[in-house]
Amino acid sequence: VLQVEDLHKSFGSTEVLKGIDLSVRRGERIAILGSSGSGKSTLLRCLNVLEMPTRGRLILDGEAVGKPAAGGGTRYREAELNRLRARVGMVFQQFNLFPHMTALENVMEGPLSVLGRSRAEARRTAQRHLERVGLGGKAEAHPARLSGGQQQRVAIARALAMDPEVLLFDEPTSSLDPELVGEVLGVINDLSEDGRTMLLVTHELGFAYHFATRILFLHEGRILEDGPPEQVLKSPREERTRRFLDRFT
Ligand code: ATP
Ligand code: MG
Repeated sequence: VLQVEDLHKSFGSTEVLKGIDLSVRRGERIAILGSSGSGKSTLLRCLNVLEMPTRGRLILDGEAVGKPAAGGGTRYREAELNRLRARVGMVFQQFNLFPHMTALENVMEGPLSVLGRSRAEARRTAQRHLERVGLGGKAEAHPARLSGGQQQRVAIARALAMDPEVLLFDEPTSSLDPELVGEVLGVINDLSEDGRTMLLVTHELGFAYHFATRILFLHEGRILEDGPPEQVLKSPREERTRRFLDRFT
């Protein structure tokens, strides 16, 4: 469903992604592991073009995104980017909810402004998605009145409301108090029943092991491991991976 070929991303003179090739099949659940600074967030952000790749191709449902430009880069049109971001949704570490809107309004916003749904329909589906994440009773609450775990569940409902083909999670539990991590991982786990394609950056190795159908290990902007959870976590090919995993045991 989603492919990248020879993806590079630099910030100034620092090359953060050094040639990523990745083909994501429909329904795969991929956990992405790696040390701080290895480029995990940058990779996710390139996949929905919150960051412009410096080089390489992004292919969604067999269609290249953007037009090749001089110098090996790619040009993207605004309309194309909005379409792409509706199809490839993202949940952030810091929730990024609109503070002046209620939970329900946060979830309605994308369907209203990007998908052009009617208010009645946006409201109906937003309520349904809040119920899905266990927050049907919090529709009228503003983010400041919700716990971190509840805010993140609203953010997940907001992403779901766009009915994306691919859902990206960037360390969705890293800014939560430990006792709130479980409720958010539980919701993410429930979503796996939908068969939706998901990519999850996480440091929760135990969760990754059960949730993922495939695990990537990123190191200094390259994919060092790519395989089933059992293989990557229990018998990694690379010494770097082993050292990384050792820190968690
Ligand atoms: P973490 O586990 O800490 O979230 P990460 O694997 O997600 O790390 P990235 O956020 O992708 O790492 O960052 C990779 C490198 O790119 C880091 O060295 C970071 O400083 C740099 N970087 C990321 N975004 C930018 C930016 N907008 N401008 C300049 N440098 C950036
Ligand atoms: Mg990150």
